[in-house]
Amino acid sequence: MGAWLGPGDMCICVDCRWVDRCQAYHAVERQHGVPHLCDQPEFRPRQPRIHVQVHELPDGGVGVEWDVRACPDFQSDPGRWLRLRPGEAVPA
Ligand code: SF4
Repeated sequence: MGAWLGPGDMCICVDCRWVDRCQAYHAVERQHGVPHLCDQPEFRPRQPRIHVQVHELPDGGVGVEWDVRACPDFQSDPGRWLRLRPGEAVPA
């Protein structure tokens, strides 16, 4: 992820000022099957590092998890996702 900016094993985008305008986060939302914060984000980050994790599901299937773990365009705005979706669980 370029410079390490995340707290560990969660997507750093939830605390980034671009989260509701970013094309990379839009792709992560699509992979997670969650509603988009924005239908047509216009911000294209330069080189986000997306961490892809494959894990077994209880039913024997396979799940894939996408998270941005580093990004040169990250701009700290703690809690931005939560302010946009108050009361909802922050994606991890
Ligand atoms: S950290 Fe990068 S990929 Fe994530 S929302 Fe911010 S600019 Fe987009």
